Amino acid sequence: MEFWLGPGTIESEGYAILNIHNLPIDFRRVGTAHSHPSGNATPSDADLHLFSQSGSVHIIMGYPYTLNSWKAYSRDGEEMRLDVV
Ligand SMILES: [Zn+2]
Repeated sequence: MEFWLGPGTIESEGYAILNIHNLPIDFRRVGTAHSHPSGNATPSDADLHLFSQSGSVHIIMGYPYTLNSWKAYSRDGEEMRLDVV
């Protein structure tokens, strides 16, 4: 897996604004990943909107950013299983 940092992303202590229109057009891109410093890895309404716009797998990493503090979601916001290999 390869990560790209989207240009123009604005981050704060509690949120990030990701402008998906700034992401490069690349058909290898399968989704997005971002963090929730609050530790709650549940998608916000803005996250669900983002998921519906881009890709099929979306990862939210919650504080403290361990192997057990992240979740993966489908395009429609349903939690999905994603194996770490
Ligand atoms: Zn989020």
